[in-house]
Amino acid sequence: MFDLTSRDIMYLPGVGPQRAAVLNKELSLHSLHDLLYYFPYKYVDRSRLYYIHEIDGNMPYIQLKGEILSFETFGEGRQRRLVAHFSDGTGVVDLVWFQGIKYLLGRYKVHTEYIVFGKPTVFNGRINVAHPDIDPAEGLVLSNMGMQPYYNTTERMKRGGLNSHALEKLTTNLFALLKEPLPETLPAWMVEKHHLMSLDESLRNIHFPRTPELLRRAQYRLKFEELFYVQLGILRYAKDRIQKYHGFVFSRVGEAFNTFYSRHLPFELTGAQKRVIKEIRRDMGSGRQMNRLLQGDVGSGKTLVALMSMLIALDNGYQTCLMAPTEILASQHCETIRQFLGDMPIRVELLTGSVKGKKREAILKGVTLGEVHILIGTHAVLEDTVNFASLGMVVIDEQHRFGVAQRAKLWGKNTRPPHVLVMTATPIPRTLAMTLYGDLDVSVIDELPPGRKPIRTIHQFDNRRASLYASIRSQIEEGRQVYIVYPLIQESEKMDIKNLEEGYEHICAEFPEYKVSKVHGKMKPADKDAEMQRFVTGETQIMVATTVIEVGVNVPNASVMVIENAERFGLSQLHQLRGRVGRGADQSYCILVTGYKLTEETRKRIEIMVNSNDGFEIAEADLKLRGPGDLEGTQQSGITFDLKIADIARDGQLLQFVREIAQGVIDADPAENRPENAVLWSQLRALRKTNVNWAAIS
Ligand code: ADP
Ligand code: MG
Repeated sequence: MFDLTSRDIMYLPGVGPQRAAVLNKELSLHSLHDLLYYFPYKYVDRSRLYYIHEIDGNMPYIQLKGEILSFETFGEGRQRRLVAHFSDGTGVVDLVWFQGIKYLLGRYKVHTEYIVFGKPTVFNGRINVAHPDIDPAEGLVLSNMGMQPYYNTTERMKRGGLNSHALEKLTTNLFALLKEPLPETLPAWMVEKHHLMSLDESLRNIHFPRTPELLRRAQYRLKFEELFYVQLGILRYAKDRIQKYHGFVFSRVGEAFNTFYSRHLPFELTGAQKRVIKEIRRDMGSGRQMNRLLQGDVGSGKTLVALMSMLIALDNGYQTCLMAPTEILASQHCETIRQFLGDMPIRVELLTGSVKGKKREAILKGVTLGEVHILIGTHAVLEDTVNFASLGMVVIDEQHRFGVAQRAKLWGKNTRPPHVLVMTATPIPRTLAMTLYGDLDVSVIDELPPGRKPIRTIHQFDNRRASLYASIRSQIEEGRQVYIVYPLIQESEKMDIKNLEEGYEHICAEFPEYKVSKVHGKMKPADKDAEMQRFVTGETQIMVATTVIEVGVNVPNASVMVIENAERFGLSQLHQLRGRVGRGADQSYCILVTGYKLTEETRKRIEIMVNSNDGFEIAEADLKLRGPGDLEGTQQSGITFDLKIADIARDGQLLQFVREIAQGVIDADPAENRPENAVLWSQLRALRKTNVNWAAIS
């Protein structure tokens, strides 16, 4: 058996240097192995015939059996086309060609039975099939034709004659080269135990399925394998990490935690908060380094959980640090935490880029001496000048703003890496979290504090400005504040600002009696913070902004969130923005303003927003609508979502299933030397070389 990965696609019959260059460039197909794993995106059942009288122009394809009554040519030069009038006795369709006319006339005969396959369109009231596939009907057994594969190709490929059909032929040529079955890439026991189709059979059937049932089994086997190796890689890496890094053991729950819990906690913890704090306590007491993702919808009370976890660290003699993505968030956290702690003898300091001079020096000194117990800040806390006496735990708020390199830096801040708690309000569906953060433990706060009034979400078309402004005005008259958000138009920063600028002027003109703030991403951080602060303190009543306000800002008095051009936002982002209101006791509103003409998908998205306040439900829906590659958080995660066949959104159950199998393998074969697993470990190593660096994920 030769190694397909080392065989250049160029030497496959039907390819050659020119086509090879196109395949390299357009589809990254370099070797025969690449081609073998370039799967069809759909199949067409060729075992069924249609009658011409059944056809309409909306069918994706048709297959007919009949004969050509006559040929006609029309036009001259480049306009020239050949038309064959084709009939099956129930009607007539026109088969049309724009190229190769001479050849076709020589090849196809009138009054001979053919099977014709192609896409119907209606032209001048007649049904046309352009450039159909034609085979002589004699000797063709339809039930043997099975399903025809369709491959994605690019415009450039099509121009070079490399359409789906051509790829199908190349794949046929490839299989003709394979004289013996492809070697199995899963252990025999696993194939047998889970009734999997063999690799060889699966690959043949994924390209040329004889029946839908065989296709289904081939797909299952290939998805199984793909997800299995992803999970095996993640879990194995997690095991390495656990063995390599020992965590500080926080065995005590002491004075700080207990005092806070019994005397300072202003309300009863929700059940979910209690459960999560227990999970965190258990983790930090276990001797392994905690690496935990804390997910909780906006307003679910993550900050409090973070604070109580930090108190456990303090009780065990360690310092802690909380990092936030922006200055304003860092200072809000600082204020909140100081308020919560009241007169407890715990020193909390804020370190951001704008803390300078003597003040900064004093804080840094306090950190070095271990006198600062809780340091809150932005990236600034990662700088080399920040030397902790004994950093034991770190909380990272809104994880997706922090990269892998920054986390690595954090780990170097003590002799052992501190425990890490990452908080995110962008709920990630469980299946995705398992793949993205395969080696992070996940805690979920799935309950909001009692007494919250659910935010009312309203969809409004943008031609109904008057009523929109009336609602805004009445809210402000009641003493509330209002956000108005404009979308980021990524293609053009200038457009973006223009949009916002126009909106701002419009709002100022519309509400001359009120003060309006304006914030966007291109402002200097200090200016932005100053402007935010004016809104936070209530000096301004309306905040006009781009999505920079998406993350974490807390203004309980703001009760209306207007999102302009809501059709341009992703679901998770809409939910995130909506979470900026509904933080106080008053009824809050989110108004999604869109144009009148909406695509089906947009309509669905808006509908989901209007009907649901549940971040997880929304994230699941988002995943289904957009696919995982577009989800916030995934781009920054460092993982390439290069799954060839499995679909994280749809194959969640299978993912869970193979994850357990992978864990079982790791537990049963810790030294990775059992002969029955040999193929599995070598396959994992081979995949690691070519695919994802799992170590970069967490
Ligand atoms: P988020 O999860 O969005 O960071 P916060 O931690 O900012 O949420 O909490 C939102 C608000 O809810 C804060 O004002 C906080 O004090 C309050 N809160 C948190 N936990 C509870 C609770 N158990 N009962 C009542 N209010 C709570
Ligand atoms: Mg928060």
